[in-house]
Amino acid sequence: MKLSVNLDRCIKAAECSTYHAELFRARDDGFPVVVVEEPSGDQVEDAEDAVRVCPGNAISLSREER
Ligand code: SF4
Repeated sequence: MKLSVNLDRCIKAAECSTYHAELFRARDDGFPVVVVEEPSGDQVEDAEDAVRVCPGNAISLSREER
């Protein structure tokens, strides 16, 4: 699985880095950085929650296996 953020859609609301700090970190300019690009185990559920709560609909979790 691949976790990513479309910064063109991100409105810098910081829900992701606030509620899922193990997966995202906020940069100095307010945009998030994905810390764990390939979540596994419990991280998958957290990543799915981040997708749901993102107000910009900017977070995606690809289920394609590599
Ligand atoms: S939750 Fe969504 S809109 Fe908010 S900072 Fe993260 S990616 Fe951007």
